[in-house]
Amino acid sequence: MKPCELENCEEKAVIKRGKDGRAVCKKCFIELFEQDVHDTIVKEKLFTRGDKVAIGASGGKDSTVLAYVVKTLNDKYDYGLNIFLLSIDEGIKGYRDDSLEAVEKNRIEYGLPLKIVSYEELYGWTMDKVVENIGKKNNCTYCGVFRRKALDRGAELIGANKLVTGHNADDMAETVLMNILRGDVARLGRCTNAITGDENELPRVKPLKFCFEKDIVFYARLQNLEYFYTECVYAPNSYRNFARNYIKQLERLQPRAILDLVHSGETVAIRKEASTQIQTNCTRCGYMSSQPICKACLLLEGLNTGNYQIGNSSKKKPREPTETNSVTGENPAPEKSTSGCGGQCACEAKGLSGLSI
Ligand code: SF4
Ligand code: ZN
Repeated sequence: MKPCELENCEEKAVIKRGKDGRAVCKKCFIELFEQDVHDTIVKEKLFTRGDKVAIGASGGKDSTVLAYVVKTLNDKYDYGLNIFLLSIDEGIKGYRDDSLEAVEKNRIEYGLPLKIVSYEELYGWTMDKVVENIGKKNNCTYCGVFRRKALDRGAELIGANKLVTGHNADDMAETVLMNILRGDVARLGRCTNAITGDENELPRVKPLKFCFEKDIVFYARLQNLEYFYTECVYAPNSYRNFARNYIKQLERLQPRAILDLVHSGETVAIRKEASTQIQTNCTRCGYMSSQPICKACLLLEGLNTGNYQIGNSSKKKPREPTETNSVTGENPAPEKSTSGCGGQCACEAKGLSGLSI
């Protein structure tokens, strides 16, 4: 076994970091990982003393590591955060009920208060019922839109002023690639920000932005963190999956490709007028929206009336990267988060085969 590659360390290396390929010992791996997250928090000014933060907790590896690391760093560096766990129960039997058990264990182990908000109480629908009615085709569109609103509602109930999500570098790279391929300039301009959210929106912060998915799994294993890793029973063979598989292939050739994609997303300059999106409030539920009625209310209307075309934009062709929409921004920007979970559900069993410690 080779010695740890870190200066002044005489331990044996047990792991090769995904991020930079250095072979390091357990202690150094944990220190480097936590230092990375701390650097992101400090450089990107993610938190302010006294913040009440809701950590989106799905029971999956990303959010389990996120909760553990943010709590550890808050204690170590005295950020002065008031931390809560916030879970969304989509109502998926055999999946979400099991993953919520993992969150419940985190609550006890980390000593953090937990709030669970369910689709059933918010919308009167579980995802099981949605799929029973619409089939398995567009289920993630409903789930993604409902989740975004549910997280905001849950954070509001807690009284949180920030929502913390577990998006990692791989998720970011996938999103950059998807937005480039779809020519979605509005999203490309903001998808790699460590803090997102418009003026009237609750800020969403991403402390794991520069952490490789592989390293998150290694960290969870080395720290003996318990997480849930079964894929959602309704997980589709989505557009995101194609991007994910492509990124995994790139990573095998050149691990830095993940960070390069994130950085390329960060450096794309978008003309202001190209991403202009006028925010207003939904006339039905008051939630912020770029349209008079928000996407969640439209989808709900479709479900309640049996007209599943309502609010369902999946029939539309993706926008082409034309002169018109990418440069002048004359076309209206799309509603946010209209499809898929965007890495926010616990369906995190994504391409983790071949990992070894
Ligand atoms: Fe919801 Fe994710 Fe399952 Fe899709 S895969 S239905 S977004 S939990
Ligand atoms: Zn609404």
